[in-house]
Amino acid sequence: MTQKQDIRALTKDELRYFFEEQKDKAFRGNQVYEWLWRKGAHSFDDMTNISLTTRKMLNEHFVINHIEVDDMQKSSDGTIKNAVRLHDGLIVESVLIPTDTRTTACVSSQVGCSLNCTFCATARLKKMRNLNPDEIYDQVVATDQQSRLYQNHKLSNIVFMGMGEPLLNYNNVLKAIDKITSDEGLAMSPKRITLSTVGLPKMIKKLADDEVKFNLAVSLHSAIDEIRSKMMPINEKSNLAELLESLQYWYVKTKKQITFEYVVWKGINDKKKDIEALVDYCKKVPSKVNLIEYNAIEEDGFMQADEKAIAYYVRELERNNITVNVRRSRGKDIDAACGQLANKK
Ligand code: SAH
Repeated sequence: MTQKQDIRALTKDELRYFFEEQKDKAFRGNQVYEWLWRKGAHSFDDMTNISLTTRKMLNEHFVINHIEVDDMQKSSDGTIKNAVRLHDGLIVESVLIPTDTRTTACVSSQVGCSLNCTFCATARLKKMRNLNPDEIYDQVVATDQQSRLYQNHKLSNIVFMGMGEPLLNYNNVLKAIDKITSDEGLAMSPKRITLSTVGLPKMIKKLADDEVKFNLAVSLHSAIDEIRSKMMPINEKSNLAELLESLQYWYVKTKKQITFEYVVWKGINDKKKDIEALVDYCKKVPSKVNLIEYNAIEEDGFMQADEKAIAYYVRELERNNITVNVRRSRGKDIDAACGQLANKK
């Protein structure tokens, strides 16, 4: 028997063409497409305005691969972490983070990660594979349903800050975002979507050339090459100067300021020279800084810096008119916070 194709790998035009080939109306393709994306059908049998014969024929040709939320954990602060099972049994995680004003979905783009940032739990998992567009889209659908159920309103924001490096799965992430923002999908505004990257200059320039409309966040953690390279080995391949050049390119093309994510660690980047380097870096491209709390992962030896050091960062950034937010972790008790996603359950 030949293997059935995943129907959601087909574009709308391909689906229309398939129906034409079956001597049916191309329009049928639109109907099925709507079921698959906007209505999120998991089975051909759900497609009630499609005849039984057609549904049977679809079943013979295709499968609908969909994710399954295998396990859902709720934090005392309302954060929900989902272990998401993919059609081939692999697991990724996605997180729903409610605040007073919004609910944010944090979604994964790869199974595991290949970048080896020393402080990140996901880095300890081998990279297994990229997620398909529908697997990314489905995480958003699942967290949106949870948001409606537990928060009484729809999802307001999406961050690509789960497992994996989104810019190493460029095409699929962009296809998923297309579906999320399209009227045929979830019709969410791209302004409410943020892609977070370790900072790959070539890919950042490609994003700019592709004129994407979503926001860009870069995990900076240090504006001194020697220190950044120790924390994030990728910095040895493309250093801070190259990164900066790509961010300036991004800004010129998109007119969107960049968010730098930054953890302050005790004894690593909590000195005056670290702060000065960050201020200098931020002055070179329109940007703001999110100081994120460090979430300890087992035996890594890193520690969050003292409050004094964080306050020093805030003061100096503000004195230089750079916007800075101090982000407290959410969902720590269930290992759902930044860098803690490691399929621990
Ligand atoms: N690969 C992407 C997205 C995933 S990581 C990226 O690097 O941006 C999401 C964010 O969590 C990044 O800013 C990352 O640096 C941060 N992070 C990783 N481990 C962390 C930890 N243990 N504590 C706090 N933040 C962490």
